[in-house]
Amino acid sequence: MKIIVTGGAGFIGSAVCRLLVGGPIGETTGDDAHSVVNVDALTYAANLASVEPVAGNPRYRFVEANICDRARMDALLAAEQPDAVMHLAAESHVDRSITGSDAFIQTNVVGSFTLLEAARRYWAELPPARKSAFRFLHVSTDEVYGSLGATGAFREDTPYDPSSPYSASKAASDHLAMAWHRTYGLPALISNCSNNYGPYHFPEKLIPLMILNGLEGKPLPVYGNGSNVRDWLYVEDHARALVTILERGRPGETYNVGGRAERANLDVVHRICDVLDQMRPRAGKPSRRELITYVTDRPGHDQRYAIDSSKIERELGWRAGVGFDEGIERTVAWYLDNPGWWQPLRQTVYSGERLGLVKK
Ligand code: NAD
Repeated sequence: MKIIVTGGAGFIGSAVCRLLVGGPIGETTGDDAHSVVNVDALTYAANLASVEPVAGNPRYRFVEANICDRARMDALLAAEQPDAVMHLAAESHVDRSITGSDAFIQTNVVGSFTLLEAARRYWAELPPARKSAFRFLHVSTDEVYGSLGATGAFREDTPYDPSSPYSASKAASDHLAMAWHRTYGLPALISNCSNNYGPYHFPEKLIPLMILNGLEGKPLPVYGNGSNVRDWLYVEDHARALVTILERGRPGETYNVGGRAERANLDVVHRICDVLDQMRPRAGKPSRRELITYVTDRPGHDQRYAIDSSKIERELGWRAGVGFDEGIERTVAWYLDNPGWWQPLRQTVYSGERLGLVKK
């Protein structure tokens, strides 16, 4: 299959590119391998170093373009003649959506609309066999469902109830994708996934921020009392889920994807400290847990997310393969082994001060 992947220079998109082309994840190679056109506007969150493992592969190509540019999307689809679009391009950081929602509405809502329209026009002109085989996978988040109490889990039929500008913009784009299926017949599918973590994660997000601040002996800023619960999924498992949905999912359906690994934020930070202490002990100093600093909670902070992923497990045979403890160990080890990837980002972008989480 020839696939356009939007946002392929970001965290999850790059894992999807590496998987599809047959990079280090290495499950899709030889005859099963797909060819990929990675379309990314290269915002602050992008990093072409994340796709370096596949950059020289003849089945991979990068195109710098903005999904809000309709003429560009039309031309790209016409030139590339893809069999599918995997749409991951987005503004993705909740904190940023609170301080500057414009970009979230532009890319997540207007950009998704633009891409859906371009895909619809392209798809409508395909010959019958290619038309029925075409797929548009819209990649979304469990945050569209809002917050859970102490029990229960999000199912595909849980009503939408987003809390932040980020999750509201993603919810809007999910509704557009489903409407484009129901109204125009575009073979669109939606995935709603829980929090991801793993290698190549931009160091403004919780897990890489804690790893790198812990490594450098800086404060570890935890919102509120750290009791917010997330269901963590190793990014390579998510990439496998997305390819599975693309290949076997039914158009018009939504699939929830989760790791069955609920953890309170404070437990996540404790685990990171313990793994770091073990892999990179601090001579003569106590555990890095002493670096934890509690900071004012963010507005609209959802208390708990949990995913019921039984539909994708039952219908498509996908299941998370990497448990949380193993995934954290792999992730910490990756950051320790790859300073060349994250050091430039730490110097220019973030170490906790920029968004006001930690005072200098
Ligand atoms: P990311 O921020 O790491 O990457 C997003 C990519 O999209 C970047 O490379 C960026 O340059 C690109 N992009 C942004 N605006 C663009 C535009 N207008 N045109 C073209 N490219 C643009 O995000 P991520 O964490 O990899 O998330 C990917 C997708 O998965 C998003 O849609 C997100 O909502 C969804 N998701 C993320 C998580 C998570 O835990 N990170 C969980 C569930 C779902």
